[in-house]
Amino acid sequence: MSSALNKKTVEDLQVAGKKVLVRCDFNVKMENGVITSDKRIVASLPTIKYLIENGAKVILCSHLGRPKGEVVPEFSLAPVAARLSELLGQEVKMAKDVVGESAKSLAADLKDGEVLLLENVRYEKGETKNDPELSKKFADLAELYVNDAFGSAHRAHSSTAGVAEHLPAACGYLIQKEIEFIGGALENPKRPLVAILGGAKVSDKIGVITNLIDKCDTLIIGGGMAYTFMKALGHNIGTSLLEADKIELAAEMMKKAEEKGVKFLIPVDNKVGKEYAADTEAMVVNSDDIPDGWMGLDIGPKTQAIFADAVKDAGTVIWNGPMGVSEWANFASGTIAVATAIAESNAISIIGGGDSAAAIQKLGFADKMSHISTGGGASLEYLEGKVLPGIAALNDK
Ligand code: ADP
Ligand code: MG
Repeated sequence: MSSALNKKTVEDLQVAGKKVLVRCDFNVKMENGVITSDKRIVASLPTIKYLIENGAKVILCSHLGRPKGEVVPEFSLAPVAARLSELLGQEVKMAKDVVGESAKSLAADLKDGEVLLLENVRYEKGETKNDPELSKKFADLAELYVNDAFGSAHRAHSSTAGVAEHLPAACGYLIQKEIEFIGGALENPKRPLVAILGGAKVSDKIGVITNLIDKCDTLIIGGGMAYTFMKALGHNIGTSLLEADKIELAAEMMKKAEEKGVKFLIPVDNKVGKEYAADTEAMVVNSDDIPDGWMGLDIGPKTQAIFADAVKDAGTVIWNGPMGVSEWANFASGTIAVATAIAESNAISIIGGGDSAAAIQKLGFADKMSHISTGGGASLEYLEGKVLPGIAALNDK
């Protein structure tokens, strides 16, 4: 299998004077046509600026929301063109369509260093079907292709995968960083490699657990999904989250870890609540002592210390899933303790998963981590060991 670590990057292309189609992730949050967070636009700037500075004719495209193959005005990318223009300090032309007459003539007239944004790629019915005809139309607009939309790289769509069959194709800086960190941790990690998995459901993370158990030195399970593991050990878990059909699998995972010599840690104590509510009555109990009628909503202080100790000397930490209901201050301590331990370690730290990234940002640890993935679903599929079509389609060096 060809390694993602070996993909061409934007710097491997001869872009001067060339029309370069760039798939960005401009799927920004909007309310009534007003952008409420331009984080994704800002994140795309390094690749776009590199292309401008190196004399490319830059043609940008992205999806926004789910217009499902129809031209739905509320999903127009026009507000993104306006904001991008402010951020770049130069005009960003806006096409009236995706691959139609407006896009074609504006693309053909571009001068070196100019920027054009196409309309929402999902206005085209063929986009999400990876329709070969649409892929060809994208390719006909340009001479080179750059994918920088990591958040869509797990989808084989026309603008993320199909188009790359027709043009020399490389990744932009955002995808390059994802490959460097996530790909690097999976293929050639600085050891010991510690994986910390949490969040609500075992069923969401089975693929990640199965892939990482073969690669890591220590596997830590926290969050709501830890209770299915505790149940597998024969503990009473009260009204904590349980996936009864996953108990057997949890037991198998623990057995596999033992056979492979992987250190496997689950909580030894918990902060339990009476109800699933932010201000519920709460107390700390050991994992073999959860009373009936109480539910585990965070890891306890002894567990915090054990998890922190396991992270201290890590070479690499991969973290997905909060240790408790970290949205609620009363049940955020476990997640904060683990984040603090990672921040204080010298480990390369990688955060994957949408809610995990949001939690780390909200709790104020974003700048302490080596890499926070920009793609929720894509980062999980990457951690599951799946091939991402939007990366696989790019040329090798
Ligand atoms: P990600 O999106 O990063 O993959 P998940 O969606 O798997 O993360 O998990 C995040 C959710 O897990 C949060 O909404 C959090 O409230 C919930 N969660 C964590 N621990 C518990 C728990 N003990 N009981 C119930 N929900 C929990
Ligand atoms: Mg989630």
